[in-house]
Amino acid sequence: MKIKDLIIAGAGPAGLSAAIYGMRAGMDLAVIEKLAPGGQVMTTYEVENYPGFAEPVPGWELMSRMENQARRLGADIRSSQIEGFAWNDAEKYFRVALAGGEMLGARAVIAATGASLMKLGVPGEADFTGRGVSYCATCDAAFFREKVTAVVGGGNTALEEAIYLTKFSSKVYLVHRRDQFRGAKLLQQRVLENPRIVPVFDTVVTSINGELRVESVSTANKKTGEAGTIAVDGVFIFVGYQPNTAWLPRGILAANGEVIVDMHMRTTMPGLFAAGDLRKDSIRQIVAATADGATAALSAYEYLESL
Ligand code: NAP
Repeated sequence: MKIKDLIIAGAGPAGLSAAIYGMRAGMDLAVIEKLAPGGQVMTTYEVENYPGFAEPVPGWELMSRMENQARRLGADIRSSQIEGFAWNDAEKYFRVALAGGEMLGARAVIAATGASLMKLGVPGEADFTGRGVSYCATCDAAFFREKVTAVVGGGNTALEEAIYLTKFSSKVYLVHRRDQFRGAKLLQQRVLENPRIVPVFDTVVTSINGELRVESVSTANKKTGEAGTIAVDGVFIFVGYQPNTAWLPRGILAANGEVIVDMHMRTTMPGLFAAGDLRKDSIRQIVAATADGATAALSAYEYLESL
């Protein structure tokens, strides 16, 4: 097995930026992505806060530009799942086992596997996933043309996706557990001005109900305890993310599963770096993930030079 300089796990904004910087630094590297390159941004309808685009850019377009840029520089982007990861102390390299039995080796690794949407964890959620319960408005909103939907959550994702859903749904209930949204002020303003969005504050969804498909959500008011029901055809859940770090050694993780890094994106394990949404204290923005990726690649280069 030929030992590479660098393996980058994940081809979202962090991983692709690391690949761009790694290729320009002359490293022999491979990028491993379990789905298609692009990461979470692929399911974002449009991105308004990535510098360089005066007009909002569709999420898929921004990511396909990053992918093309990395490929033009010669990055080897492979589609596979990492099933095993270990440090070979005798020979001083990381062993990365891929699905299907292939084994890769590298002197340095950048973990950029991002984060996944959290589940709400209420009765009916799992049963109706794909039958009215969704975690991606960009993917599924068109199924709810002139129908009534609910969005659960109050962060930037919930606000953006609720606004997107109004292109299709006649009415979007935005169910949030507090009386103030967490998301950006500009998005809050757009939500409150949108005649198709009905904010439902101080309320949690306690179950998702129906026969063959979603027909309603049961709710509870957090202040009064009052139970209620909202008739809906679909429920979109955006209640935060959890880091995709199950494949990494426990010792480099914080209690919540995020990777602990220093300002150079170095973990506590020499040669292992982390970048993007999976790292502790990330602001979870595309621009931050790309910066992390660049920092991690340059740190990996310095590390390799020091060996
Ligand atoms: P988030 O900011 O963590 O917000 C999660 C929301 O879900 C919060 O409003 C939270 O309520 C609510 N929530 C959590 N658990 C819940 C539960 N069990 N039941 C009901 N509600 C629950 O997550 P996010 O909106 O997905 O955003 C993740 C990160 O990506 C953030 O840093 C965000 O700024 C960033 N992001 C940025 C953009 C952008 O800049 N355009 C777009 C999307 C995401 P509380 O408010 O009460 O905690």
